[in-house]
Parts: sequence; C-alpha cells; structure tokens
Amino acid sequence: MQDLLSRIRIVLVNTSHPGNIGGVARAMKNMGLSRLVLVAPQEFPSAKADARSSGATDLLSQAQVVHDLPAAVAGCGLVIGTSARSRHIPWPLMNPRQTAVQALHEASQHDVALVFGREDRGLTNEELQQCNCHMHIPTNAEFSSLNLAAAVQVIAYELRMHTLALAEKAELEQPQWGTEWDIELATNDELERLFEHMQQTLVDIDFLDPANPRQLMPRLRRLYLRARPDKVETNILRGILSATQKTLKS
Ligand code: SAH
Repeated sequence: MQDLLSRIRIVLVNTSHPGNIGGVARAMKNMGLSRLVLVAPQEFPSAKADARSSGATDLLSQAQVVHDLPAAVAGCGLVIGTSARSRHIPWPLMNPRQTAVQALHEASQHDVALVFGREDRGLTNEELQQCNCHMHIPTNAEFSSLNLAAAVQVIAYELRMHTLALAEKAELEQPQWGTEWDIELATNDELERLFEHMQQTLVDIDFLDPANPRQLMPRLRRLYLRARPDKVETNILRGILSATQKTLKS
C-alpha cells in the first residue's frame, strides 16, 4: 500500500515563501508521501524551508525542481489541479475524499500528480486547463483559501486514511486458513474413509459402544476436520488404525 503513495507527486507551482515548502514537506512526510516537485520556486533551497520542515529535510533534498508545469507532470496518467475558488469553465470537480479514492485507484497503473498554486494567486486558468480534474476543499465560501501547506495536509490525510482502509480491506479478504502446504490436503472422501475406519476400530477396541455412541464421532470428526490433515497425515492415521486392528486379531 505504501507503494501506491510513492506514485503520487505533490507539485507546488511558483511558491513564494520557502517556509510553505518546508511546511508541505512536513505534512507529506507525516502522512507517508515522499515525492515533492517544485515548479520555479522563488527561493529554494532555503534555510527557512529546512526549519519549517521540522526534520523532513530528506524530502526537501530529494525534491525535484523544474521550470514549468508540463515538466513537473511528465509521465503522469492523472493530473489533479487544486483551486480555492470556482473558475469560469467548470472542470470535473472532486472533494479531497473523492480525490484520494481516485488517486489511489489509479496509482496502481500510473503516476498521479496533485498540483498546488501560488500563495497569492493560486493556479492560472491555463495551468488548471492542463489538469484532468480539479479538487476543491469545501471551505467557507466567504473565506475559502487555505494556507498552501494546510491544503496539502488535508489531501495528504485523506490519502493516508484511504490507504489504511485499503490495507484493512485487503487483510479482511485474506482467507482465515492458508491453503499453502507442502503436501496436498486430504480430500473429503479420503477423510470420510478415515472416519469409517476410526469408528470401526473404536468399536473393535470397545471404546465406542454402537448402542450408545454419544457424541464421540462428531467430536472426533470436528477435531480432524478442523486440523485439515494432509494426505500423508491421513495415511499415518489409517496405518495406526490398521495396526491396532491387526494386533487385536493376533
Ligand atoms: N488566492 C488564491 C489561493 C491561493 S492558496 C486563489 O484564490 O486561488 C494556495 C494554494 O493552496 C491554492 O492554489 C491551492 O492549490 C491550495 N488551496 C487553498 N485553499 C484551497 C481550497 N479551499 N481547495 C483547494 N485547494 C486550496
């Protein structure tokens, strides 16, 4: 699952404050994201970015710096632009939760980019038009714009929550019993023959009274059916029963 997060890039366009780049790196690392791409940052590398990253300096030193948006999203199969306000021509719009589901679904096939704009002006219409869809964090319409690092934090958290949900689902879908075994499991009819043989032997040694069998056979059946003996184990048990019967007769 961690693998999926590593295919998601966070792209910051033309960021003015290096402190915000540090804040983004911290938010990303907290949530398990690692790929940061910076399009023409105004000041980077920067001690202010390092300080605000609170130790996520590895993400900063690995950050890719490029000149324009096409270079930042090259190779991506899904590009999601983010915007604090609605634009003239509406594009397919998602909230952060829907975005996380879509991004992680597609990350198994190709790289995915989430593109964030400038602190003062956001993304230009031209940049937004390079995206497949847009994400809007449903904020107060009267005060809609989040700090850049806070906006990245919201989507990074949703990506993490959905990653955890996918891991939990995968766990739930694991069969309770593994069927990988060095020897083939005994089939149902082989076990039925074992039970018949066992019942007969238990009668022979006077352990089972056919007139009053009680719950002996159901309990023994449950024991062996739960253990799921393989073919070799079943043969060993049958061998013990045959030897017991042979000894009785001699
Ligand atoms: N004044 C700018 C907002 C810039 S905030 C504008 O009106 O567009 C900096 C960046 O943070 C935005 O470009 C966007 O990437 C992100 N952001 C801030 N608030 C957001 C919101 N409510 N939904 C989605 N992205 C948001």
